[in-house]
Amino acid sequence: MKFGVIIHGGAWDIPDNAVTDHLNGVQKACNIANKLLKNGKSSLDAVEAAISVMENDSTFDAGKGSFVNQIGEVEMDAIIATEGYQFGAVCAVQNISNPIKLARLVMEKTKQHILVGKGANLFAEQMGLPFVAPESLLVGRELDRYYKIKRIPNFSAKNMFRDSRRKINGMGTVGAICLDILGKISIGVSTGGTPHKRSGRVGDTPLWGAGGYVESSVGAAATGYGEDIIKVLLTYKAVEYAKIEPSLNKAATRAITELKRVNGLGGVIMLNQNDVGFDFNTPRMAFAYQIEDTGLIVGIDPGDAKRERKDY
Ligand code: ASP
Repeated sequence: MKFGVIIHGGAWDIPDNAVTDHLNGVQKACNIANKLLKNGKSSLDAVEAAISVMENDSTFDAGKGSFVNQIGEVEMDAIIATEGYQFGAVCAVQNISNPIKLARLVMEKTKQHILVGKGANLFAEQMGLPFVAPESLLVGRELDRYYKIKRIPNFSAKNMFRDSRRKINGMGTVGAICLDILGKISIGVSTGGTPHKRSGRVGDTPLWGAGGYVESSVGAAATGYGEDIIKVLLTYKAVEYAKIEPSLNKAATRAITELKRVNGLGGVIMLNQNDVGFDFNTPRMAFAYQIEDTGLIVGIDPGDAKRERKDY
């Protein structure tokens, strides 16, 4: 294929009343990335644009609309990466609209890979990223959820990935992988983490090989219950499996099988120069993908897409 994009909008027990918003959101992001790639823009630009539009969409647990932590604050994690082991990530960052842009600045303007908390915010200020008031990221839906969760004894964030539909309703982290016309793969993932997380908690998203990984022209981006994704280095494994499996769907399925070994719940999307693949073991994962100018495929339920796709 000459260029392509795959997007995820989180793997959770996404409630019925949030399905349309999730599908619209991933479709919009996919369209934006596809247009940029078609016009010859780099896969990094396309990933940044796709993730930014989902961070600005309060449907998703990223940027505006992020879950609130135990002390009522929004703390966000993000990673962006491209070939040649180039990546930048931010953890527990606050008061900025687009953590993915900050992650890219870490990658391109520093000698480090990961900045956390206060230091990440200081760097955002130095780079001239606008400081936004906490209220502009915290939406009413999440404030209601915060108070609701506070009343639940022994609340388990992990259960939201399994069967929250009738109880507390999950929202999705966002991820994107793009291939540009120069043949370069880039990935990005952005999240507000899990609901009612401890202040300072960092999930899989900004961790290299857990939330995202690119190597040997294969990209992988994850979503799901971060504590378990970290245990198995989900995206590193997915890329390793791509070296031995005949398709990226098969590689993704093997990676999800690893996740099941630790009773983990989540999903992974994958892209290389001639294949696209994904899998998840949560009830739903919002996804969209488009290869060159072929039809855009969008789905959320298992079996929504024709899974064995090869040779674009
Ligand atoms: N993986 C994210 C985290 O644990 C959450 C998600 O993907 O929805 O922070």
